[in-house]
Amino acid sequence: MNESVRLGRIAGVDVGVNWTVFVIFLLITFGLAAGRFPQEHPGLEPTAYVVAGVVAGLVFLASILAHEVSHAVVAQRNGVDVDGIVLWLFGGVARLRGEPGDPGAEIRVAGVGPLVSVGLGAAFGAVAVLLGGLGAPGITVGVFAWLAVINVVLAVFNLVPAAPLDGGRILRGVLWKRRGDRLGASVTAARAGRAFGWFLVVLGLIDFVAGAGGGGLWLVLVGWFLTNAAGAEEHHAQVRHALGDVRVDQVMTAQPVVVPSDLPVSRLIDDHVFSSRYSSFPLVDRTGRPAGLVTLNRVKQVPADRRGTTTVADIACPLDAVAVARPDESLADLLPRLAGCSDGRALVLDGERLVGIVSPTDVAHQLEVADLRDARRPQHV
Ligand SMILES: [Zn+2]
Repeated sequence: MNESVRLGRIAGVDVGVNWTVFVIFLLITFGLAAGRFPQEHPGLEPTAYVVAGVVAGLVFLASILAHEVSHAVVAQRNGVDVDGIVLWLFGGVARLRGEPGDPGAEIRVAGVGPLVSVGLGAAFGAVAVLLGGLGAPGITVGVFAWLAVINVVLAVFNLVPAAPLDGGRILRGVLWKRRGDRLGASVTAARAGRAFGWFLVVLGLIDFVAGAGGGGLWLVLVGWFLTNAAGAEEHHAQVRHALGDVRVDQVMTAQPVVVPSDLPVSRLIDDHVFSSRYSSFPLVDRTGRPAGLVTLNRVKQVPADRRGTTTVADIACPLDAVAVARPDESLADLLPRLAGCSDGRALVLDGERLVGIVSPTDVAHQLEVADLRDARRPQHV
């Protein structure tokens, strides 16, 4: 999930929102301002309901953000780098670069999110009780009461033992610890995720047919998303297992041919494309720092008569859109980041210095080798 708007940094982590977050914000605000609040506290000015709905919606999004920030902070403390946090249609995602290295870290990183949500729920509940006791307006108490309930609901939903939900990650950590088998634990948690996703889809369809309307469709959407995400996790677990401990610097092409950002596309074709076997070229700026990546796919899209006036920088993936890896990073951790603008390639940076490039061919080769290695292992019957 890509961010559309960057909000800033919290606890050293980039926070952004995808435009789809406005869909949930509007749904929640509308549901509260036009439904729940007028029913519970009738007779107020319409603006009072709208203000209460907007405030509740915003604080709810902030609560989701706090949940995700807690995942990110604990992940960093357990040695897992964090790419950023994005709020979107189904809540929040903390994008971790890789996975926790042991079951305990897995359980801590996953468990802290629901813990924070329950804590927030309790805090909002206490404020509601306090305000009620002080004789505050009913709708103000109502906002805090709703925030208390919704945070607890969020925690309980996330604790369902089905990956990619937090409960699924905790399940994986527990099974991994008990059996010592990371792959088996990941597959079980992911299959539970698929089953739970389908359960939600069916439940939503029944709801929809029974007349719940939008609520039913929402469940179908959430269930469908979970099913897909869990399927991707299972696949990723298999690939991770196949790749084992292979590091990025063991598969990368070292010292790739680099080109200056202001090189015309025609020169790139004449001087490099025809004379080398490479299909992508990292760009460097005047100071020699990496600035992006241009692939043959992108070169081909420039019409012949424009090749002299178009520079490689005009058509390249800028550096912030290219997957970047460290040489000592595990290849399995890099794989999920390879999608996107750079046609499955990643630049390998040691600090700010470009030391290599990983291509889909390198990854495919490594998987083939892993297959051979597996076939050589004695089979237990
Ligand atoms: Zn979570």
